[in-house]
Amino acid sequence: MSDSFRLGNDGIYRCDALQQFLWQKHGFGTRQGNPKAQITLRQIHSDRILNANVIRDRDHQGDALITDCIDRSIGVRTADCVPVLLLDSQNRAIGAVHAGWRGSAAAIIRRTIEKLTEDFGSKPPDIYAALGPCIRACCYVVDATVAQQFAMTFPEWELPLTGKQNLDLPEANRRHMVEAGVKLDQIFDCDLCTACQSASFYSFRREPENPGRMVAAIERLG
Ligand SMILES: [Zn+2]
Repeated sequence: MSDSFRLGNDGIYRCDALQQFLWQKHGFGTRQGNPKAQITLRQIHSDRILNANVIRDRDHQGDALITDCIDRSIGVRTADCVPVLLLDSQNRAIGAVHAGWRGSAAAIIRRTIEKLTEDFGSKPPDIYAALGPCIRACCYVVDATVAQQFAMTFPEWELPLTGKQNLDLPEANRRHMVEAGVKLDQIFDCDLCTACQSASFYSFRREPENPGRMVAAIERLG
C-alpha cells in the first residue's frame, strides 16, 4: 500500500496529505467501517455534479458533490468504482466524486474541478486529491468497446483496440486531473485494489450479488 494512507482503528483509511489540513476531516471506508456522510446522491454513473450548498436531502441524482459549507459532510458509495476526494487548500472547498468507467470516460473528475472553479473560485494548482480503494488494472479487464472510450486518455495503447484490455481507471482519473491543472505531486493514490483484497473491501465484480458498498466522505470543519 502507498505510504501516504493510513488505516485507522475504526477501519477507515485516511490520506496524510489531506490530514495536514486541520479544517477538514475525511475517510475511505472498508468492510470494517465507513465514514458518515450527511449528503449523498442517487448515483447514476453520469458526469452530473451537484453543489451541496443548496441541497438538503438525498433525493438527487448525480455522481459528484462539492461544497464550501462548514459541518456538511458529502460522500459517495463505491464497490470497484474510483472514489476521489478533493480539497481546495486556499478556498476551503471540497469535493467527493464517484468515477466508474462511464463517469471516468466522461471525465467527471475534470468537470468537478471546473465546477469547483466556477462555483467557489478554486484554482487547480491549489487542489489536493486522494484516490481511494477501487478495482485496479490487475483485475479490471474490459472489452474493446469500453476501452475505445479511453483511447484518447491512453495514447500509448496500440490501435485499433481488439479483444480484452486491462483498464487502469485511477490512472485515467489522474491524467484527467493533470489536464485540468492539478499538480501531479498533489494527487495521492492508496494503490489498494477492491477486487484483490476481499477481506477489506466489497467488490461488485467479485461478488455482484453482495450489495455492500464503501463510503468515501469529506467534511469542512472550519
Ligand atoms: Zn486487483
